[in-house]
Amino acid sequence: MKRRDLLRRLSLLPFAGSTVGAFFMPTAVQAAPTGAKRNLFQELGVRTFINAAGTYTFMTGSLMHDYVQEAWLEASKEFCLLDELQDKVGAKLAELTHAEAAVVTAGAFSGLTLGLAGILTGTDVEKVKKLPHIGGTGMKSEVIYQKGHEIDYNHALTNTGCTMVAVENIADVEKAINEKTAMLFFVNILANSGKISHEEWVALGRKHGIPTAIDIAADVPPVENLWKFNDMGFDFVVVSGGKAMRGPQSAGVLMGRKKIIEAARLHMPPRGFNIGRGMKVNKEEVVAMYVAIEQFIKHDHAKDYKIWGERIAHIENAVKGLPGVSTNVTTPELGNVTPTLEVSWKEDLVKMKPKDLQERLRNGQPSIEVAGGKENSVNITAWVMKAGEEKIVARRLKEELSRAAV
Ligand SMILES: *Cc1c(COP(=O)(O)O)cnc(C)c1O
Repeated sequence: MKRRDLLRRLSLLPFAGSTVGAFFMPTAVQAAPTGAKRNLFQELGVRTFINAAGTYTFMTGSLMHDYVQEAWLEASKEFCLLDELQDKVGAKLAELTHAEAAVVTAGAFSGLTLGLAGILTGTDVEKVKKLPHIGGTGMKSEVIYQKGHEIDYNHALTNTGCTMVAVENIADVEKAINEKTAMLFFVNILANSGKISHEEWVALGRKHGIPTAIDIAADVPPVENLWKFNDMGFDFVVVSGGKAMRGPQSAGVLMGRKKIIEAARLHMPPRGFNIGRGMKVNKEEVVAMYVAIEQFIKHDHAKDYKIWGERIAHIENAVKGLPGVSTNVTTPELGNVTPTLEVSWKEDLVKMKPKDLQERLRNGQPSIEVAGGKENSVNITAWVMKAGEEKIVARRLKEELSRAAV
């Protein structure tokens, strides 16, 4: 049937106008609600939830502050040269963090890859093209770290082709250093699991003329950590943007020596002859990350801490009198520095495994995520909750713990 004939036929049907419209409208357009604001999560059938767990990547990190969202949106409305923007933002970030230079990266992980890549190649473009390398290029190829600082994210460093050399004490470091040693690497969150301190690590690097680097991805607050390790003399430092700072989850900052940052940038977009091309940040991340840090530094952290504590106390008070249930609030000394409530229970009095409780909270209305704990416990933080959500978490937790009581 010709389109013209079809149209004529349809026009004979009742409600023809709207039917024709609907008939020829592509499905996607048809699905778009008219006037009403779209709820994309609902449309896509994606569950959203109250996050009482923390800043986990698989839960999408944290919610960007309003001022970060605004910066993101503003940036999206104009063109600019990506390098010029990184130059200008980098200068501001360097000043704020007491570093010689800084650049916005696609998170702390990519900052590690790019920083080490910069150390390996310097500004030699031919070398930049050769990473990842497996030797034979004249570039250094080993990174020394402490055995206690073993963490999945160290893969960021082996992405350059380097191998990791584990040591335990200062004598081991002296022995391990050779002409292939590119860098001495420190993981701040595991500082207490190693035998060598920050200061000793930096001194070892200085003594042997080898750059030192530190991963502080999840270690603000305290806010001073943004400059503490630059002041201490680490040659580069990486931090995540989308954890407690509530910047973009797709961003972080690499900060440190001018020479290293300059070289690291050769490994990044807009250039495409390097290992960092897939670690792209665009103007939105760069501007939003800048505003996130600028405001984070000005922020009233004591007030935040008080609010988190009050929320946690509210949840604790709702459950601590329940039979068989005990609670404990601690604040980690390193990493994720926020009041953390452990709710645990006696197995003979509350018949439930932590994963049962997690599932029941997840399947409730509204859905809630808490972190799994030890054998019979779950962990709760309040720093990425919205105001008032602690009341819902308290009520639901009490309901499920009471229901499972025997
Ligand atoms: C979160 C984290 C990373 C990864 O940071 P991204 O910003 O997500 O790339 C690396 N190291 C440590 C210790 C972390 O906690």
